[in-house]
Amino acid sequence: MTTAVPAQARELVPVLEAVGVSRHFDVTRGLGRHQVVRAVENVHLTLHRGEIVALVGESGSGKTTLARLLALFHGATAGEIRLNGTAVQPDTKAARAYHSAVQMIFQDPFGSLNPQRRVRHNLERALRLHGHAAASKSERRLQVLDLLEKVNLAPAGQFIDKLPHELSGGQRQRVVIARALAVRPSVLIGDEPISMLDVSIRLDMLNLLARLRDEEGLSLLYITHDIASARYLADRIHVMYAGQVVESGPTEDVIQHPKHPYTKLLLDSSPDPERLLSPDAGSAFDITSSQGEPPSLITPPSGCRFHPRCPLAHAECGQVAPPRVTFPSGQEVDCVLHA
Ligand code: SF4
Repeated sequence: MTTAVPAQARELVPVLEAVGVSRHFDVTRGLGRHQVVRAVENVHLTLHRGEIVALVGESGSGKTTLARLLALFHGATAGEIRLNGTAVQPDTKAARAYHSAVQMIFQDPFGSLNPQRRVRHNLERALRLHGHAAASKSERRLQVLDLLEKVNLAPAGQFIDKLPHELSGGQRQRVVIARALAVRPSVLIGDEPISMLDVSIRLDMLNLLARLRDEEGLSLLYITHDIASARYLADRIHVMYAGQVVESGPTEDVIQHPKHPYTKLLLDSSPDPERLLSPDAGSAFDITSSQGEPPSLITPPSGCRFHPRCPLAHAECGQVAPPRVTFPSGQEVDCVLHA
């Protein structure tokens, strides 16, 4: 399924970029104890025009926090978020243009729509807010119908006056995507966009996202705990563990020749990626039973954060952060085994 974007066809400047991005949260525990959660640490990620990048990892790996940083819902503690090469901060004038260019699709489509307003209103509002609404009512109706057709809600006339609760989960998520398209973005960030949908329609949704990339020239950051869907959809994969990207590279290289011990464990504990999205395949990573628990992000392990769970850990792994190693395939791996 994956249609890799030829390197020469990509523009040199990524459309979206995280450069050494960290995000720490201050929390106050019992007796007023102040602590810091190191949710994301020194992450580099690039997304080129027309490219699909998957960010995969267990719950609590920091992938949703990274998505929210890239959507400018949070400011970064360190590092930069760049759009077309220009650094952007939340709550600045430039952030408004950024929010038009980068649209987020959440896991729960019901929570993303105004439940008391019809599909037409939900979409027209997005058109109006971003200055794309036509002047006349009839033209605006045509705009909404066109958006619904783009996300395969056809005949569109049957959906335009529905309320969100009158739609299935898959139809609602299509409306959410149509609303994102109304803003005319260059990037979609999908945070587990299919995980709440019935298994029978997940493949349709992935195909829709792939088609939007092809037809609209969109870039997509696809966040998931399901490595089978990441393999199906993405050109490149980033694997996150305990707030850090530990391996990245072209999808088939990472799947067929994983270099990092954590990536190998993920693949071993995941359903066979060939049994893509089958109803009985399951999808969540579950390496906790045999390999211990994910670490606390308040006091993350020293050195390599994976060392308490790593079956190949050396003595030095608990003391020194592993180097980043780049392979000819384009894979980048943080592990002393390859230094
Ligand atoms: Fe395992 Fe050490 Fe590599 Fe970390 S650096 S993944 S602990 S071998």
